[in-house]
Amino acid sequence: MIQIKTAAEIELMRAAGLVVGHTLELLKAAVEPGMTTQDLDDVAARSIRDAGAVPSFLGYHGFPGTICTSVNDEIVHGIPSPRKVLREGDIVSIDCGAIVEGYHGDAAVTVPVGRVTPELTELMRVCEGSMWAGFAAARLGGRLSDIGAAVERHVWPHGYGVVEEYVGHGIGTEMHQDPQVPNYGRPGRGPRLVQGLVLAVEPMVNLGGRHTRLLDDGWTVVTRDGRPSAHFEHTFTLTEAGPWVLTALDGGKSRLTHLLAAPAAG
Ligand code: MG
Ligand code: MG
Repeated sequence: MIQIKTAAEIELMRAAGLVVGHTLELLKAAVEPGMTTQDLDDVAARSIRDAGAVPSFLGYHGFPGTICTSVNDEIVHGIPSPRKVLREGDIVSIDCGAIVEGYHGDAAVTVPVGRVTPELTELMRVCEGSMWAGFAAARLGGRLSDIGAAVERHVWPHGYGVVEEYVGHGIGTEMHQDPQVPNYGRPGRGPRLVQGLVLAVEPMVNLGGRHTRLLDDGWTVVTRDGRPSAHFEHTFTLTEAGPWVLTALDGGKSRLTHLLAAPAAG
C-alpha cells in the first residue's frame, strides 16, 4: 500500500533527510586512501547519534553496519569492515539512512578514493546525472514509470549496465515501502505521482553488464563480470513548485533549476 504523507510528516522526513545529507557530506570529506570502511561507519554512527537521530540500517534484517559501503565491483549492501582498506583509485558507494521521530531518510553517493581513472569519474557522473534526470521527469499528475524511463534514457547512450534486480522505493515510517521504483522501463505507467508521495530514487550503474551476484555473506551485491559499479540515491517528494529533494542540503535546487528550465528532451 502506498503511504501518502501529510505536510507535517514530510517536514519530519526533511529533518531525517538533512541528517542523512549532512552525514554523507562528512563521509565524502573523510574518504581517503588508507582508511577502512569501518572508519567510515564510525563517522556515520557519530554523526547520526549527535543529531539525535537513529540509523535506519543498523539491525535491519540483521544488517551489522550503520551504513553500507560498497567498493569497486560491489554494487550495494557492502558491510563495513576494519579489514577493508580503501586504496587510491578505488570508488566507494556509501548508502546512509536515518530516522527522526519515526520517519526515514535514505540517500547514497559514490566517492572517488584519491585520484581515479577518467573512466570511473565518467561512470559516477553519469550515474548521478541519471538520478537527477529521474527527478526532473517527475511531475504531479505524471506516472511513476516516468522516473525510471528518464534514468534509463540518460544512461543508455553511454552503454553502461543499469541494474534491474534492485530498485528505488517508497519511504516513510518504514525505510522500504510501496511502490517499487525501477531504474528502467517505459514512461506513462504505474501509480500517479501525487502530492504526499515520498520516494527514494537510486540508480545502480555498472561499467560493464547489468547482471549481479550475491556474495556468501548474504548481503554484498557485486557485478557478475567483476567490473566497477556506481550508486547514487536521494529521497524526494513532489510539490506544486516541483521536486523537493529531502536528503539534499539545498533541497535539490542547484541541480534541478537548470534541468527544469531546459525544454524536455525528445
Ligand atoms: Mg539507501
Ligand atoms: Mg533506498
